[in-house]
Amino acid sequence: MTAPPSSAPDPVPYRGAPERHPRRPHHPLTAATDPEAVELTAPVFGPADVDALDADLTRQHPGAPLGERITVAGRVLDRAGRPVRGQLVEIWQANASGRYAHRRDRHPAPLDPHFTGVGRCLTDDHGRYAFTTVKPGAYPLPDESAWRAAHIHFSLFGTALTQRLITQMYFPGDPLLPYDQVLASVPAAADRHRLIATFDHQLSDPGDALAYRWDVVLDGPAATRTEGSR
Ligand code: FE
Repeated sequence: MTAPPSSAPDPVPYRGAPERHPRRPHHPLTAATDPEAVELTAPVFGPADVDALDADLTRQHPGAPLGERITVAGRVLDRAGRPVRGQLVEIWQANASGRYAHRRDRHPAPLDPHFTGVGRCLTDDHGRYAFTTVKPGAYPLPDESAWRAAHIHFSLFGTALTQRLITQMYFPGDPLLPYDQVLASVPAAADRHRLIATFDHQLSDPGDALAYRWDVVLDGPAATRTEGSR
């Protein structure tokens, strides 16, 4: 696992960080708000709603996307290290040039007509997920004050809408890690390190894709830091 070097200069605080964290106290679920009623109105999904092809971001268009083909795989675990099965894992990312297929992305890097950059899958009985995609490029923040390290956005729905977890995964060895303002907004070094995937040579396919392994821990002392954590 690659850690940001301790001698690196402190990145400028990310101006958008306050927007990504709650500004009001959490609203407690009480008898009046009826937690079971909340769950009844949450999205419902199952294996029939998620296609195996949804996890392969390189096969969503007639042609293959540009960029370095990669596998991103790992497990979703609870605080005791037990696998969390049947979790909806969703990802979204920039293309290999660092451009999102989104109308608000004004970065002058090229769009890729063969890459949308979104995928999803359900964890299996061992809590495992896996995506085939291309390595995302770095891109500048919209105000061009700094560059983002390459990253993939992750969302895990949990077993109820109220458990939704959103975070970002980074790549080991990225020279931008010490300068990334979003990563730097995570206060504890251990939490930052847990957001960085590990290169997995064994899982890599010599003829197809390099592999990165990244586990998500939903709660407990080793929990994956999320957007919205305090
Ligand atoms: Fe991003």
